[in-house]
Amino acid sequence: MEGLLFVVSGPSGAGKGTICGEVVRRTEVELSVSATTRSPRKGEVHGKDYFFMTEEEFLEIVRKDGFVEYVENFGKHYGTPEAFVREKLKSGRDLILEIDVQGAAKIRRKFPQCVQIFILPPSLEELKRRILNRGTESPESVALRLKQAMDEVECLETYDYFIVNDQVEQAVEAMISIISAQHNKVGNRAEEIIRTFKEA
Ligand code: 5GP
Repeated sequence: MEGLLFVVSGPSGAGKGTICGEVVRRTEVELSVSATTRSPRKGEVHGKDYFFMTEEEFLEIVRKDGFVEYVENFGKHYGTPEAFVREKLKSGRDLILEIDVQGAAKIRRKFPQCVQIFILPPSLEELKRRILNRGTESPESVALRLKQAMDEVECLETYDYFIVNDQVEQAVEAMISIISAQHNKVGNRAEEIIRTFKEA
């Protein structure tokens, strides 16, 4: 059977990266690696966290229609490589796309069967504290990310599930439960499930 596609969004600083990283470590699910024109943060690895590239390299892939979706965020480009996503799903792997709300809406149109999860920080105040603690953003970037966080939260109703990241452990368990339940959902897969049953 084809793998399931999960889209995870939430404000920058909500803890998506930590939660998804832990889910990937504990399950068979894989994380899609996006391309971006922003600079690597301390500890980020090319090919693992992102494919870091120049504006020219990015636009060349856009020109060749190589992204399922791409956006400009905080003045930088981010894109999901199409071949990577389709190959993984075809090979039966579940995949998580950790992308912003604009990207999520585009993915919904191309992959209507995807499952969308929104990660919320416990409060706006806590989000601000987390972004400041990260210490990597300029004051303008912090202000921009907080404004964007409020805009993103407004899109919550288009998502299937939400997880409040108060305690990381609980948030990780919630996400694993959602993924697990999705595997047992009949949805529009009845025919495929019956065929697999007959052929087994
Ligand atoms: P950051 O710079 O903090 O790593 O990411 C900024 C925002 O861009 C986050 O909301 C992140 O989820 C989003 N993002 C990362 N990769 C992609 C992508 O391939 N497509 C879209 N649409 N958003 C992305």
